[in-house]
Amino acid sequence: MLVDTHCHLGAEQFNDDRAEVVQRARSAGVGHVIVVADSQPATEQAIALALRFDLSATAGVHPHEASAWNPEVAAKIEAALNDPHVVAVGETGLDYHYDYSPREEQRAAFAAQLELGAKHGLPVVVHARSADDDMAAMLRDTDARYILHSFSSGAGVLDVALAASAYVSFSGMVTFKSWKDNDAVRAVAGDRLLIETDAPYLAPTPHRGKRNEPAFVRQTASKVAEIRGEDAQQIEEQTTANAIECFGTHIQSKQSS
Ligand SMILES: [Zn+2]
Repeated sequence: MLVDTHCHLGAEQFNDDRAEVVQRARSAGVGHVIVVADSQPATEQAIALALRFDLSATAGVHPHEASAWNPEVAAKIEAALNDPHVVAVGETGLDYHYDYSPREEQRAAFAAQLELGAKHGLPVVVHARSADDDMAAMLRDTDARYILHSFSSGAGVLDVALAASAYVSFSGMVTFKSWKDNDAVRAVAGDRLLIETDAPYLAPTPHRGKRNEPAFVRQTASKVAEIRGEDAQQIEEQTTANAIECFGTHIQSKQSS
């Protein structure tokens, strides 16, 4: 049984066949999916989808949407953390590649969500792109548990995460010809390793360029196993155990359903 720890199941790309996508995941042995939110409205939607499909959700505001962060949104996100389907804060973080929100606002929304994670004892799903110095500094400062999602940062960020025993999650990017960071895949301790699709984005080879979906997390698991020189079954068992340890038994309780 595999867990897709990061999927935007609420994205419009799934509007026509969401139930089939979930069914295909289960048929492929992907027993659980964490439905990741990127805004306050998407948080409500993620919780509704988790309820509908017996999955888990996150509650948070993406760095692209950081300009929307304000006290009212913060209060709604914090209230959502009490929903039993919500297993993490996020996704939040810093994205200086696109800079869709001003960097100062990204840092403020990220800091606030790290605090929410620490306060509520929930892990924080961290999106980090082209912001290594600020990211490393902010992660060094936090008491929150966190996951570096779809890891693609530099060694500075990875070192902070490894020192904090944070989780590091790899996506289909590890299957791309352009992927150059097998050292990072090997550097993460076995008990801190997670896998994800980030669907509908980042479809792994051989689906690259098409819509991604949770069933495809298996390709990423195989590639991670190959890079680490471990067998696929071992990676499957380990990453599922890690997902339960990281996000809680809500993940486990749904596996058999
Ligand atoms: Zn995402």
